[in-house]
Formats: sequence, C-alpha cells, structure tokens
Amino acid sequence: MANFNTHLNGAFAVSGILGLTVYKAGLLNDSGFLICVALGTIGGLLPDLDSDNSTPIKLGFNIASFIFAFGLVMHWRSELSLLALIALWLAGYGFMRYVVFQVFTSMTVHRGVIHSVPYMAILGLGLTYLSYYAVHNPLMASWFYGLFLFGGAMVHLLLDEMYSVNLSGMTMKRSSGTAMKFYQHKDRWWYLILYALLALLVFAAPPFAPFWEQLRDPAPWAKLKVGMLPTFIKNLLS
Ligand SMILES: [Zn+2]
Repeated sequence: MANFNTHLNGAFAVSGILGLTVYKAGLLNDSGFLICVALGTIGGLLPDLDSDNSTPIKLGFNIASFIFAFGLVMHWRSELSLLALIALWLAGYGFMRYVVFQVFTSMTVHRGVIHSVPYMAILGLGLTYLSYYAVHNPLMASWFYGLFLFGGAMVHLLLDEMYSVNLSGMTMKRSSGTAMKFYQHKDRWWYLILYALLALLVFAAPPFAPFWEQLRDPAPWAKLKVGMLPTFIKNLLS
C-alpha cells in the first residue's frame, strides 16, 4: 500500500495536469479549475478514510472533537460555573474522541467496501448529483467535479495496486490484486447494496449526453493545440 504522502502527491499531480488541460481548453472557468484540482486531491485520500491509522481521519476527528467541545462550552457559557464548564469541555472532547471515533472505526472495518471502485463511483456520482440539483452549478462543472473526485480515488487505488507489486515487476506480493476492487465475496451483501445504490444514482443522474457532446466538440481542443507549446518551440518546428 502506498503511504499518505504518495497518495497526496500522486492525486495532486494527476488532477493538476488534467485540470490544467481542461482549463486551457476553455471547458472550465478559474474557480472550476481550482475546485477540480482540490476535489481530485481529496479523492486521492478518500479510499483510506476507513483505516484507523490514517492521518487525515485522525486529524479530522481531533479537530471535530475540539469544535464539538468548544461548541458545548459556548452554548452553556452563561448558565454554568467555570468548574462545570471545564468538566463539560473535557467530557465533550473525550466523548467525541474516544466513544464516537471508536464506534466509527469499528463500523468501518469493512475496508474492502470503502476501498473499492463502486463505493468511489457512488461518491463521485453523488457529488455530481448534489452539485447540479442542490447547488445548481452548471452541468459541465458538475460532471467535472464528480469525475475529478472519482479520478483522484482511482489514482489512489492504482497507486496501491502498483505498490503491491514488487519493484522487480516479476513477483507479486500477496496483497496484489486487492486494491482495484469491484467485488469481494465475503462482503457480498455490502456490494449488493453498493451496486443497487449506484444503479439508482445512474438512473437519477444529471444528463450526461450534453456534457459528452461538449467534451467531443473539436473547437476547445483545437484551441488547446494552439496554446500547447511555447512559442519558441513552435518557431523551431515551423
Ligand atoms: Zn489505500
């Protein structure tokens, strides 16, 4: 398995290059470009969200625990004494950090379920759905958001897959072939739910044809071709 920094850098590099390409072709505006690169990078961290030792989830839980504890204290600051407030602060933090986090990690032992292609497809498609129907973003941007999130997650699974192959490329480690996961028999009920949910999302997804048409339109790509090489190289070639 690749580590946190490899995933962060890998997902950032891939979504940065792809985002810049689409942006240069004029298919995304400035903010859309930044959001796509950010989403691609986040996507690269998502599949490891379930593992107890994962850095982002630990950090996220610590921050959430602090915010929760401060929220409690701020809510009761005028009614309670200082001593009671300190006790409340500690209890609130401890509850989030040790009770909620424990329940969360015990619920997510099904690593194969979150660390899989269908789960990430649901997240990507779900984001497109929310972006288009709830936030009312343009169709083009909504599809790009979902695709970048999903793409980042695929970079993650691919990196895990590559790292499970020995560097010599000859011998496979035992973990090989488990990263890029579509189905696992021991989690068949989970996968049944995942694929049912995915089918529902595909059915209710925003229209894909207009997005695809615009992506296939040769005009933006012709524009990109013109702007691809630095001028001095173009002069050398002509
Ligand atoms: Zn992973």
